[in-house]
Amino acid sequence: SKGFIPSNYVTEKNRIEANRWYCKNITRTEAELLLRQEDKEGGFMVRESSQQGVYTVSVYTKTLGINGNIRHYQIKNTDTGQFFLAEKHTFNSIPEVIHYHEHNAAGLVTRLRYPVGPMGRCVPATAGFSSEKWEINPSELTFMKELGCGQFGLVRLGKWRAQHKVAIKAIREGAMYEEDFIEEAKVMMRLCHPKLVQLYGVCMQQRPLLIVAEFMENGCLLNVLRQRGGALTGAWLLSMCQDACEGMAYLETHSFIHRDLAARNCLVNEQNVVKVSDFGMARYVLDNQYTSSSGAKFPVKWSPPEVLHYSKYSSKSDVWSYGVLMWEIFSEGRTPFESRSNIEVVEEITRGVRLYRPHRAAHNTYHIMYRCWHEKPQGRPSFSELLEDIRKLAEQQD
Ligand code: ADP
Repeated sequence: SKGFIPSNYVTEKNRIEANRWYCKNITRTEAELLLRQEDKEGGFMVRESSQQGVYTVSVYTKTLGINGNIRHYQIKNTDTGQFFLAEKHTFNSIPEVIHYHEHNAAGLVTRLRYPVGPMGRCVPATAGFSSEKWEINPSELTFMKELGCGQFGLVRLGKWRAQHKVAIKAIREGAMYEEDFIEEAKVMMRLCHPKLVQLYGVCMQQRPLLIVAEFMENGCLLNVLRQRGGALTGAWLLSMCQDACEGMAYLETHSFIHRDLAARNCLVNEQNVVKVSDFGMARYVLDNQYTSSSGAKFPVKWSPPEVLHYSKYSSKSDVWSYGVLMWEIFSEGRTPFESRSNIEVVEEITRGVRLYRPHRAAHNTYHIMYRCWHEKPQGRPSFSELLEDIRKLAEQQD
């Protein structure tokens, strides 16, 4: 029959862009990082090679050693315009070549088992929620295990409509300026980026108030760093910084200030992608110890002088905290100014003392974080500048 269907429900079978394994603008280094992050046997992607008009298949395998190895194969053409990876198996299109090797290694280090591409990773995790409808019906939620406990209360794993895994935060009575938060939640829901933990909605007709967000399988970044730090390569640590920087650059372009950026407020998903969480939430905390700069829970060690002295927040105060986050990543989850009290830190920061170079950071990496700690906000780089620097550094490392 004739009629209309939504275009996003169909793909064109032999068009390369329509495939989950196709990554258009991706360098060899970025491809390797993605494959390593996924860490799946037979993980693969097809990308444009540095040679114009040539495509390369990048494949990840653990059969050559536990740390995983990557092989890059160029897709070749025959004189008659057919495509192949193995000379004996030629096809009319690249998708057909890939389809064949999904089932047969035929000379490759492994068959192509698991497509790794930007589609799964970079599409914001909306999971069927709409950014217009921010109220969630609590009867559509089921509760599973406990995930942790924070400033606002208990966080549990749950399911929405029995299908989508979500994280559900139950707000403890007296812990939050609830009315103000509910107003702001409408704005937060529209912040949508692959490196931000997505807010799906709130159940606001009942108490405790429930906040529903994207579920992040590997939990808090600080724990990941402390538990697995030694096993993470330098390139991996840098890619964690890049993830957080991408999320922050998005907030910066939307003039949204985080106010409490730190490793404890970043989460890690199943594919080991780091995402920034709890943005803007510090404004709704009802606890003097946390909100007053002289309070015991105030993030003094992540704060620049203008916040410590005048409570002056900006994207540039987030940049300072981002420098400290980089420091946490490259010190595998140590606490900054470990042996110092908050009062000592305020005094030292005001005198111009800064964090030392963490043991995993090369000098050029330390240089980037150090620039975030310029005394004056205007002397610090923006997140978009930081992102450029980090990308360059990642390229050099290869
Ligand atoms: P609060 O904002 O109330 O301080 P947090 O956001 O710090 O709470 O959450 C407390 C803990 O719950 C985190 O350290 C983490 O282990 C877990 N958690 C929070 N949000 C999620 C999530 N979206 N996915 C998985 N675990 C989460």
